[in-house]
Amino acid sequence: MLTPDRIVSTTCPYCGVGCNLRLHVKDDFIYSVTTPFDAVVNKGNLCVKGRFGYDFIYHPDRVTEPLIRKTHQRPGERTQAFDRDAWRTVSWDEALDYVADRLVEIYQRDGARAMAVYCCAKATNEENYLLQKLFRALFRTNNVDHCTRLCHAGSVVALQMALGTSAMSNTAAEVVKSDCFIVTGSNTTENHPIIALQMKDAVRKHGAKLIVIDPRRLELCDFATLWLPLKPGTNVPVFTAMAHVIVKEGLVNRAFIEARTEGYAEFVRSLDDFTPEVAEAISGVDRNLIVEAARLYATARNGAIYWGMGISQFSNGTASALGLIHLALLTGHIGREGTGLNPLRGQNNVQGASDAGAMPFHFPGYMPVDDEEAAVQWERVWNVEPGGLDRARGLTTTEILSNVRPGGVRALYIMGENPMMTEPNLNVTRHHMEDLEFLVAQDLFINESGAYADVILPAASWAEKDGTFTNTDRRVQRVRQAIAPRGQTRPDWTIICDLAQRIELRLGRPASAGWSYAHPQEVMQEMASVVEEFRGITYERIDKVGLQYPVFDASHPGTPYLFADTFPSGRARFFPLEYVPVAEEADEEYPFILTTGRLLEHWHGGTMTRHSQLDALYPAPLVEMHEIDAARCAVKTGDAVRVSSRRGTVVLRVKVSPKATPGVVFIPMHFVEAAANLLTIDALDPQAKIPEYKACAVNIQIASEDDLVAPEAVQERGRY
Ligand code: SF4
Repeated sequence: MLTPDRIVSTTCPYCGVGCNLRLHVKDDFIYSVTTPFDAVVNKGNLCVKGRFGYDFIYHPDRVTEPLIRKTHQRPGERTQAFDRDAWRTVSWDEALDYVADRLVEIYQRDGARAMAVYCCAKATNEENYLLQKLFRALFRTNNVDHCTRLCHAGSVVALQMALGTSAMSNTAAEVVKSDCFIVTGSNTTENHPIIALQMKDAVRKHGAKLIVIDPRRLELCDFATLWLPLKPGTNVPVFTAMAHVIVKEGLVNRAFIEARTEGYAEFVRSLDDFTPEVAEAISGVDRNLIVEAARLYATARNGAIYWGMGISQFSNGTASALGLIHLALLTGHIGREGTGLNPLRGQNNVQGASDAGAMPFHFPGYMPVDDEEAAVQWERVWNVEPGGLDRARGLTTTEILSNVRPGGVRALYIMGENPMMTEPNLNVTRHHMEDLEFLVAQDLFINESGAYADVILPAASWAEKDGTFTNTDRRVQRVRQAIAPRGQTRPDWTIICDLAQRIELRLGRPASAGWSYAHPQEVMQEMASVVEEFRGITYERIDKVGLQYPVFDASHPGTPYLFADTFPSGRARFFPLEYVPVAEEADEEYPFILTTGRLLEHWHGGTMTRHSQLDALYPAPLVEMHEIDAARCAVKTGDAVRVSSRRGTVVLRVKVSPKATPGVVFIPMHFVEAAANLLTIDALDPQAKIPEYKACAVNIQIASEDDLVAPEAVQERGRY
């Protein structure tokens, strides 16, 4: 058995649970990962990604030197290039000078509206803070966003509207204090495996009742008292019918409603349209199940709601999340331990990137960009002249790409994201990428989006740098450097600061001290100097155990659950809802509904897990189908099929699965050789601008083995 040179405590780079990892290092090589039994979040448990998914760091395809494209296409002629021969290796100075020159040239020619940036839910809080600062303070644009737009934007908007804040209200581990909890639109077992363990404990060891509301028969259904198998996109009628039952049967918490909410009377009037019978007709869920679920949740002592992207990733995602919020407000199941409204955040630091201002509508700390007082505060901290920061809301991720054209967005800077896997309707996204005038990709690999870039800036992985991540329950935790960065890779925060200094010089602005940080903790201090909720967070205080914000001062202990006495908006608000169906229903030509999502073994666009030993566990895409649908298509497990929507086609093998329900098929989002987002629709939620990833119409036809595509073939071909 090896004796490590050191064991470094850090936070998992995959999902929003935020498990503590101990990286065992010998000769500057991570050879093992463990976790202690007293780890506050995960108590000795890790899922397969946290335990074994770290070896992408050493993958031979890792980019370890800055690269500039040899040939520069004109707009509209940009092509995907994975081949290293398309690039020349350059020094950091040449790469950063070139990026600064091109960005400043475009900014001075076309102005702020031509500039845009994708921050990164995998990077640290400090790195996201710095990148949004660069684009806001130097290029004066709020065209700043990241993949929160693609996962929980509907939840964020709904929570802001109803409560005045958007994070998870309670600590995930508090589920064992609930006597009834709803899990909806979340395959928690695969997406947040450690929280799923706690949910199972709540049922098995503490006697809690679980209600699963989901179109798929997920593993958690085995632990549930009730499963409501609704048609994708019919959340609003089901949740609102539950509200109808709670009101009609007098199960509301009158004292809570009177003391802490507004808009109740108008909301109650709107419920007449949402009887359980109406909801059954729309959703396919038996009306008696809706009634039973409403009673079970409303009569609990402590009821809690957990939800995932199966709520928010719809063109009615904001209304769906509001439907859940209403249930908590009607019953007063909020503001106490074991209760609450808990959107389970996907990526390791999607919460933190949002908190740090990586969004088009908000500065750090959710301070609105159109709030004069907020803008003045950040101008002071960022050495921007009065009135210099843009007060207009910027473009969201999807809007950034759809605005790529002369007179619109010309330059895009992508840190660690992969829109060519994660945006909906990729055949259209591809044209937007081709039409960019200048694209920078800062990443570990040349992924499907980086393959369009003019410059690749090689970034250090999470194990090669310091910083903080914020997990799904608002816990700010340390990320620690365990090994030296590979090759010439550098931590994102140092790349951004170096680049900012060069841009500042070229813009002729007085050089400020604002980009000379000795360590990420100085960045955190700068953010905390303005954002009240972070004021008490220091690296010393989170050295061993993270702190859950708000942390108002140096002696504040952190906040495991929110809203004990009040809501940030004062009173919480009800909003009468309308049911708006999904943009595309199944029909004769496209008779199945496709829903997309993640697998336990993989992560997001696959940039990390497909360069890891995890890929061997689930090496190829599969379409999950119910046995009735498989019989209807005359296919069985292992057969190759062609799945087509009105936007694209993929070829992959069938898996007849007990998780599937008739009429609904599932394709995971991780596989470039059958990219699910070639099929998805780019219909957006009007308020949150989140795409409808969870429902579009497809047909399925038998394909030949020859039609199957290998991932290498996609790269050789240079496009999907
Ligand atoms: Fe990492 Fe999430 Fe797995 Fe924990 S549950 S080990 S945070 S991927």
